[in-house]
Amino acid sequence: MLRAVSCSPSLSSASLFFRFFRQFPRSYLSLSSSSAALRASGRSIRRTSSPSVAGRRILLRRGLRTPSAAGRGVNQQFSSLSVRAVATQPAQSYPGQDEAEKLGFEKVSEEFISECKSKAILFKHKKTGCEVMSVSNEDENKVFGIVFRTPPKDSTGIPHILEHSVLCGSRKYPLKEPFVELLKGSLHTFLNAFTYPDRTCYPVASTNTKDFYNLVDVYLDAVFFPKCVDDVHTFQQEGWHYELNDPSEDISYKGVVFNEMKGVYSQPDNILGRIAQQALSPENTYGVDSGGDPKDIPKLTFEEFKEFHRKFYHPSNARIWFYGDDDPVHRLRVLSEYLDMFEASPSRDSSKIETQKLFSKPIRLVEKYPAGRDGDLKKKHMLCVNWLLSEKALDLETQLALGFLDHLMLGTPASPLRKILLESGLGEALVSSGMSDELLQPQFSVGMKGVSEDNVQKVEELIMNTLKKLSEEGFDNDAVEASMNTIEFSLRENNTGSFPRGLSLMLQSIAKWIYDMDPFEPLKYTEPLKALKTRIAEEGSKAVFSPLIEQFILNNSHRVTIEMQPDPEKATQEEVEEKSILEKVKAGMTEEDLAELARATEELRLKQETPDPPEALRCVPSLNLGDIPKEPTYVPTEIGDINGVKVLRHDLFTNDIIYAEVVFDMGSLKHELLPLVPLFCQSLLEMGTKDLTFVQLNQLIGRKTGGISVYPLTSSVRGKDEPCSKIIVRGKSMAGRAEDLFNLMNCLLQEVQFTDQQRFKQFVSQSRARMENRLRGSGHGIAAARMDAMLNIAGWMSEQMGGLSYLEFLNTLEKKVDEDWEGISSSLEEIRRSLLARNGCIVNMTADGKSLTTVEKSVEKFLDLLPENPSGGLVTWDGRLPLRNEAIVIPTQVNYVGKAGNIYSTGYELDGSAYVISKHISNTWLWDRVRVSGGAYGGFCDFDSHSGVFSFLSYRDPNLLKTLDIYDGTGDFLRGLDVDQETLTKAIIGTIGDVDSYQLPDAKGYSSLMRHLLGVTDEERQRKREEILTTSLKDFKDFAGAIDAVRDNGVTVAVASAEDIDAANNARSNFFEVKKAL
Ligand SMILES: [Zn+2]
Repeated sequence: MLRAVSCSPSLSSASLFFRFFRQFPRSYLSLSSSSAALRASGRSIRRTSSPSVAGRRILLRRGLRTPSAAGRGVNQQFSSLSVRAVATQPAQSYPGQDEAEKLGFEKVSEEFISECKSKAILFKHKKTGCEVMSVSNEDENKVFGIVFRTPPKDSTGIPHILEHSVLCGSRKYPLKEPFVELLKGSLHTFLNAFTYPDRTCYPVASTNTKDFYNLVDVYLDAVFFPKCVDDVHTFQQEGWHYELNDPSEDISYKGVVFNEMKGVYSQPDNILGRIAQQALSPENTYGVDSGGDPKDIPKLTFEEFKEFHRKFYHPSNARIWFYGDDDPVHRLRVLSEYLDMFEASPSRDSSKIETQKLFSKPIRLVEKYPAGRDGDLKKKHMLCVNWLLSEKALDLETQLALGFLDHLMLGTPASPLRKILLESGLGEALVSSGMSDELLQPQFSVGMKGVSEDNVQKVEELIMNTLKKLSEEGFDNDAVEASMNTIEFSLRENNTGSFPRGLSLMLQSIAKWIYDMDPFEPLKYTEPLKALKTRIAEEGSKAVFSPLIEQFILNNSHRVTIEMQPDPEKATQEEVEEKSILEKVKAGMTEEDLAELARATEELRLKQETPDPPEALRCVPSLNLGDIPKEPTYVPTEIGDINGVKVLRHDLFTNDIIYAEVVFDMGSLKHELLPLVPLFCQSLLEMGTKDLTFVQLNQLIGRKTGGISVYPLTSSVRGKDEPCSKIIVRGKSMAGRAEDLFNLMNCLLQEVQFTDQQRFKQFVSQSRARMENRLRGSGHGIAAARMDAMLNIAGWMSEQMGGLSYLEFLNTLEKKVDEDWEGISSSLEEIRRSLLARNGCIVNMTADGKSLTTVEKSVEKFLDLLPENPSGGLVTWDGRLPLRNEAIVIPTQVNYVGKAGNIYSTGYELDGSAYVISKHISNTWLWDRVRVSGGAYGGFCDFDSHSGVFSFLSYRDPNLLKTLDIYDGTGDFLRGLDVDQETLTKAIIGTIGDVDSYQLPDAKGYSSLMRHLLGVTDEERQRKREEILTTSLKDFKDFAGAIDAVRDNGVTVAVASAEDIDAANNARSNFFEVKKAL
């Protein structure tokens, strides 16, 4: 498996531009950059950083495998930031007007939006009042979304459970989960659903028009005519139910959302975010949790659930978005079929979001969160200060200015508020910090975690004093220039990664539209940005920003200060409380009741495990193999050299931006230095040189480039013992600034001094906080890394730099920094010397041909300055963790369970069918057993074709041993499988959809580099594609033998609660070696 451990905040801070412009879930921006690229290397991706989306306010139907990484790629529609007049056309006729009228729509307004080169028309469906934004342009990545305003009145999680449930079968598609059928067999570039605190979004995207309209129809039918309102089983499965397998056993709660939310409520950062939102708006719908509090979810009744759908899932309360290069009239035709079936309803008025009146004085809250017993709990407090900024909606220019202010204060490591807080040493890392305007009223939060009990008050004072100081003194000009360039670069690049651009625009637009404001306005930032820039130039930045800090923050009494205290009893206490409720429930039941409950449990389980009949499956529209291109997408790649260094050039249109990667080999690095590598990378970016402080260096990067990052990357290489282990320096700039880009890369690599002990200490504590968070929130990633580390060398290397071993290393490092800083500093130097060399270096560049030629001189100069060879001889990597079954204990209410083995060791030889088969196992066997009937939020498998490791993983899983049994049954599942041609075709098309995932130009260039590093040729890709396209049932049966190897010789790693691990070890005589982690 290919791993990019992203240790550099710099690139993510480059994408940490305006929160205003990134209404899409925050975690999309923080994920490692290479996922899209990795997928293109022909395998599914295991995500090491799971979406923390759920942690913030937005919940996804499918937490795993969400698109990642905005922050890459380039938008082809966006040619210039120069100001163009926004052509608002007179409300006369437009193409297709007659037909639109005939279909029952009237035009409300129409604009040409130069920022995204789109013509947008806002329609109203005359009969129901449903509003439709129809955005037309040349983007082939078409997007559809339907959004309902769904404000909850309590924390039973109705909107969230409904969001899951409507995709479980509908009038036209009466099968268990049409959603999963689409996952299996469509070419979607996006497919998911989101629950916000006040709205629910159902977006899909595809580049294939036929596929796109298939997706649209399934989604429309799902939201308006779902089966779940007539079928209590879906409510029980997705929401909650009592489970009783045998009247003699205890009753337990089951349900996908129930366990998903238990996971959310096991993460301190998430708990804090929820408390903050609720405390800031106690009087409106934001005062409750739309996702559902596990304590309240079991209070929800089926009647309330049905009523909620009836009330809010109505065209009168819907806003619909279409975007892309498809026929705008066809959009209305499809919609009218659905909308015409409804009469107008008052639901739009009843879903209105009330405003929270501003407080007259600040409040303070103290709350507890579940903590482990290990470590110094006194140092694990959290403190966060939150403001609701205004009662009224802000105008666009003020919002832009606040977004700008946010970037200035917190956006980069050099930003003063961030810097001062971290340098104070009062806490380990920042928590939930920044402006947010995705809800009705904007808010601002800033805080720290890992704070000592006695320092809690000091953190609050420091935040207030720093804000005061910033308002009095303003920001320095270089910082303002750096922020301005970063923001403008991001706008110009408009890189949403693998997240469709049209969806990003939809989420921006809907953030106003949902409150009955102008849906066009959020898309048109050019004028207000220009006005803001002019004001800064004319009046100075202080005149612009100081009043904002004063008005919205310092003089704003709507302030909520929250202290979170660690409580080692809380997790157990919650379990005990849940148990006692369930015991009472059982005690109140007669024998007949219990027998009935056991029968109902069995009935539900049987229903879940019975496959849909073929005729039901057939009704979900899908493509046929003829619709699929026979060849993979080729990326133009020219391999040459500059001064003896290999250079890959990709001539692609990038809107005048150059993307560059410089790759160094880790082949001369001493083993014991490996865990220091991530901190070495961070030091390069954040330590400063002899002449430049790190703040100056950071500002220089912000002013001259679009961002630079440095991170390690390791992977097995198929057929080789030696892993691929590299350090990648990645940067981007306008082509005209390529010289600056390479000069700065050189400066980082060669001139940065490892002398700042205090900063290094901060890096250590931030990294530790990040790893602890990952352990709680993405335990499946930690488990996967651990198993890989037992099974292959690349996995071991990666785990040393980003797994539990890394966390253990960090725990001892802090003391070492105090005791032997000289030693660490010289180790960092040694890492530099063993990496930096022309020999073994590779340069990868993506831009248009002309820019590629002009940039050559700068590359040459950069390479000339590198030493010829690395210091130290070649080392042989051979580390592995001992093979054993391991259970990692953390304070959690739900588990992460993994099992993995190397199937190449059984003699299995790679065939393209393996991708089809593993996707099918994930989407059928594991989805049905681990998620649907097991009640986990996720269950999937992953096959790493480079190493041969096949792994099973579950996510927020109430079970442990039971899940392992399901994994072990996979071979038999395959042997007993009987799939017809249609099912097979769907599986094949879905796999091709993954392989051909949509990529922006920078991602194309990056994937090509990855394939080069891992020795994947275009001939091999073509061969694998043919194997995928010709996958047969026999391939599935043959694969069973390979999978049995995982059952028989695989290793198991679980990240779980102490109680569940004890129970497992009792049931299966000490199956697990127990390891404490938190
Ligand atoms: Zn969910």
